[in-house]
Amino acid sequence: MSNKKRNLIERLNSGPVICAEGFLFEIEKRGYMASGEFVPMVSLENPKALENLHRDFQHSGSDIVQAFTYNGHREKMRVIGKEELLEPLNRAALKIAKKVATSPLGEEQNLMAGNISNSNIWNQEDKKSQLEVEKMFREMVGWAVDEGADILIGETFYYAEEAYAALKVMKETGLPSVITIAPYGENIMRDGVSILDTCKELEQRGGDVVGMNCHRGPDTMMPYLREVKKVLKCHVAALPITYRTNKDHPTFFNLPDNNGCTCKTPHETTFPTALDPMQCNRYEIRKFAKEAFQLGINYIGVCCGATPMLIREVAEAVGLKVPASRYRENMENHYMYGKNKRIPKHIKDYRSKA
Ligand SMILES: [Zn+2]
Repeated sequence: MSNKKRNLIERLNSGPVICAEGFLFEIEKRGYMASGEFVPMVSLENPKALENLHRDFQHSGSDIVQAFTYNGHREKMRVIGKEELLEPLNRAALKIAKKVATSPLGEEQNLMAGNISNSNIWNQEDKKSQLEVEKMFREMVGWAVDEGADILIGETFYYAEEAYAALKVMKETGLPSVITIAPYGENIMRDGVSILDTCKELEQRGGDVVGMNCHRGPDTMMPYLREVKKVLKCHVAALPITYRTNKDHPTFFNLPDNNGCTCKTPHETTFPTALDPMQCNRYEIRKFAKEAFQLGINYIGVCCGATPMLIREVAEAVGLKVPASRYRENMENHYMYGKNKRIPKHIKDYRSKA
């Protein structure tokens, strides 16, 4: 086991740090989670599948192994009637993440991150709901510290005040805290605070890394990141989804399929089961990562829609070489589109008719 391990801020001060998120979508696609319900039972029911996903992201360059506890909070466990599995689920997810983080492919250990997120019961008018959420955060953060988390990530918050509450609880531990928000299509937090003001406030309240994740693809996240980066002095985080959101549809929740869909989803939106045709290609993700890095954003990753291939793309976009770089595209040897001199001329010449 490698012992070398710089802390998050040391790493960010010296260069890019890659973070794979988006476990929910990818584990669902791999067949280990029900879409819509989205409870990360995988850590208990198919731990090997979760470990494999972490390993695949690690192989593609993720420096952070984020415990898959998204939605693994008390309220969600109540919804599915399995509250008694809350702590086992959290601890199992944290242990798997720790195992992967402490057996890196390179010389340096990865950072294991504990994770809390949007509770979906936060109500700005109801103090009781807020205290309930804070309690949920505190128990999850407690388990994360117990299991040896190196950092804490609070993510996908669409209420500013809920993000502040998450940060407060994370900061009580003294661990480095990453806090990212995910505003909906109205381009403002649900409690009326602007995106920029929320980020400014999170920095004021001691967030070590502040930024945005989820809900928005590259094109509708980048304009806000530019603003945020101009104003914040702390490190900034950028983790978009991998879908082509646009001005009319800034998030993936109401993204229509205008791409020749012949078979509609049984529910009202393409989210979350029929987003595939709106997927960004790898060059779009690369372009986003490159621009973010050029702005001075060093904490870069991908949220929903992330695949190991896209994490590699992000890592390479900021100048890193990762284990999976060995398998980056090599069209040179393609049987028809390649330029390799062994490729027969009659095959090459047919390329435009293929
Ligand atoms: Zn996401």
